[in-house]
Parts: sequence; structure tokens; C-alpha cells
Amino acid sequence: MNEIILIKNGELALKGLNRRSFEETLARNIQKAAAPFGGVKVWRSQSTMFVTPLEGTDIEEAVEAISKVFGIAALSRAAEVPKEMDAILPAVCEYLAEELSDAKTFKVNAKRADKKFPLKSPEICAAAGEFILERFPHLTVDVHEPDLTVTVEIRDTSAYIHKQPIKGAGGLPVGTGGRACVMISGGIDSPVASWMMAKRGLELSAVNFASPPYTSLRAEEKVKDLLRKVAEWSGEIRLHIVPFTEIQEAIRDYCPEDMLTVIMRRYMIKIAQIIARKDGALALISGESVGQVASQTLRALECTDAAADMPILRPVIGMDKEEIVTIARRIDTFDISILPFEDCCTVFTPKHPKTKPILEKIMQAEKALESDEINVAAMMEKAVRDTMLVIITPER
Ligand code: ATP
Ligand code: MG
Repeated sequence: MNEIILIKNGELALKGLNRRSFEETLARNIQKAAAPFGGVKVWRSQSTMFVTPLEGTDIEEAVEAISKVFGIAALSRAAEVPKEMDAILPAVCEYLAEELSDAKTFKVNAKRADKKFPLKSPEICAAAGEFILERFPHLTVDVHEPDLTVTVEIRDTSAYIHKQPIKGAGGLPVGTGGRACVMISGGIDSPVASWMMAKRGLELSAVNFASPPYTSLRAEEKVKDLLRKVAEWSGEIRLHIVPFTEIQEAIRDYCPEDMLTVIMRRYMIKIAQIIARKDGALALISGESVGQVASQTLRALECTDAAADMPILRPVIGMDKEEIVTIARRIDTFDISILPFEDCCTVFTPKHPKTKPILEKIMQAEKALESDEINVAAMMEKAVRDTMLVIITPER
């Protein structure tokens, strides 16, 4: 008996004329996700996507990987059998033997996409129900809340048998919305922000600011580990590691202490968007949430936004920490995020940062970095030049 995976698209159906290109992107993403486990062939028929494992593919692993592909509402492993009741009925009992033994109640659901099939849907249900009850006499039929729903789909080429589908990752296929560049720290929020934007169909690049020797190589490894988790959902991520020490020290030495955080964040934005643009990204992503820390008041956001001339997407802006943590646990980044390695943001944290920085005053203070003696523009150029590119692929 051949086993395949049936895919139910999510929002794709809404996309009208774009639908075709959305589906092509989704098909490519499914193939890429399953490739490490042996590979699959993806084909479409009658508005359903069929995923056929290539010989030797570990279907369990492939399903697990495909359940993280955005743009899928639901997926089912299904048995593929000839379109004859003589083949379908025994196949139902064989393919779902374990589930039928474990359940107390069941129902049969028939879908007849091939209108030429001799039996109508209710007749298929009745025949299958009767056949199952004969072989699993402990079962009773419950059409409202069954333990097990057996679905028989009659399509053009074959019949398919499956139980309840599992939930897909939702969202839109990565690559259908263009590219954005996430400012990734080792914290809890920015990996979640990355995941949320990938879910909306964006391809990801990432920028991390490192300040050795204040920050360690372990901190860099932590960022890579976090992105590897995100990449299981988003696909490959281009990570740029920016040497930020010189600029941070200049800010520390030449700007008022209570403005350090905001000024540092403005320089991060300025550098990030140069790198983002080179990478083809049209927006930055950050993990800020209003009120979470001093640099995340509306006044502070006004100051960081003013340093940007591309949109800054902040998907967790209105979320409580607890809500962000729930997603971090779901995508398995939480345990990595809480490892205690210094981020460059924390190394020069002022004791009393300004919670209501005034943009004009901040820009005035930044003038101290633009003298002959200390040329921040040249430092920025150098930081961009010395940035290291690391290609992050999924962990497994
Ligand atoms: P996170 O949990 O993502 O670290 P946070 O609550 O600690 O966020 P901040 O440290 O103020 O908040 O950082 C706010 C945002 O700035 C982060 O979500 C991230 O997008 C960006 N950011 C902070 N540090 C860095 C860094 N070293 N490199 C790149 N981006 C950073
Ligand atoms: Mg942080």
C-alpha cells in the first residue's frame, strides 16, 4: 500500500490570481523541507496538493518537517488504493487497524471528487461502516463526536484513506512576501519575532551585533542555535555578524550615559539597514514590545524609528512576555534564549537610562561622534565591511 501526504492549503485559497505562484512556492518549500529525509514529489490535482515520498523516504520525519512549512492549514497521511470498493474496504481496515482497535466510536466520511464513481458518498459511508463494524465489533458509530473519523476520498486517479488531519503551521508560504532582515539578539523576543514574520511569508536575513571581547563566542553560537530553530520553519537564513565594539566604545566614551542605549540602538538600525538592503530585504524586524524595558517606550521607539528609512516590523509589539514565551516554547527557542551569555546590549547598560528620550537631544548628542577625531561614519563603513556572513540551515 502506497502512503502519501495530502495537503490542505490555508489562506492560499484567498489569493485569486496569485494563487498559482503561491502554490508553486509552497510546493518548493515542501520539497526543501522533506529533502533531508529522502525527498518527496509534490503534485497538484483538483485543488489539493499531493506529496509522494520518494523511495526510502522516512515518512514520519517528512511529515514532521512538512508540519512546519507555512501556508498549510492541515495535512494527512493517507493510503493510496485503486478506486474499487473491493480494494478500498480491506485497505481501510488494514491501514487504520491500530486506530480502529483503540477507538470506541467512529464515523466514516466520504468525499467523491470523481462524480463518475458508481457509489454516491452516503453509499460509500454505509458500505465502509458496515465492513468496519464486522471486523471491529467493539466499535459503535457516532456521527457527532467520534473518537475516529475515517475519510475515504475518491479522486481522479485513486482513492485515499485517512484519519483526522493534523494541524499545519498556517500562515503564508515563505518567499511570497519578499525578504526582511531580523535584528537578532540572544534574547527571547527576537527569535519569536522572526518566526512570526516568516509565518507571514517573508524570507529571512538576520543581523547580529557582536562586541568582542565584551561579548563571547558562546553568545554568537547561541544566536546561531536560535536561528537554526527558526530555520526549521523559515528555511535558510543569511546571518550577518557585525563587529560593533568600536562603535559601542565610542558611544560610551563620547555620549551622555543616560542616552547610551537609545544612541546605540540608532546605530544598530543604521548599520542593519545597509546590510538589509544589500541582501535584498525591504524591511527590518525587531523583537520590541511596548513598555518591556526602558528602550521600548513610545519616546524611545520614536528615536529608533527616526534612524530608519525602511519599515521596522515589530510583530510582538503588543504582546505580554508570557504570550511571547508561549511561542518561544512552541518553536523550541526558549531554553536556548535563557542561557546566560552577554548580549552587546547589556554590556554598557546605563544605571539610569532615559525612558523618555527626546529625539532632538539624542541627535544633538550624536554630533560628538562626527568630529575629525572620532569619525563614526568611517566606523560604520568598516563595521559593514568586516561583517561576517554565516548561512544558517535547519538544525535537523
Ligand atoms: P530580545 O529578547 O529579543 O533580546 P529584549 O527584550 O532583550 O529583546 P532589547 O535588548 O531592548 O530587548 O532589544 C530589543 C530588540 O533589539 C531585540 O528584540 C532585537 O530585535 C534587537 N537587538 C538587541 N540586541 C541586539 C543585537 N546584539 N544584535 C541585533 N539586534 C539586537
Ligand atoms: Mg535582549
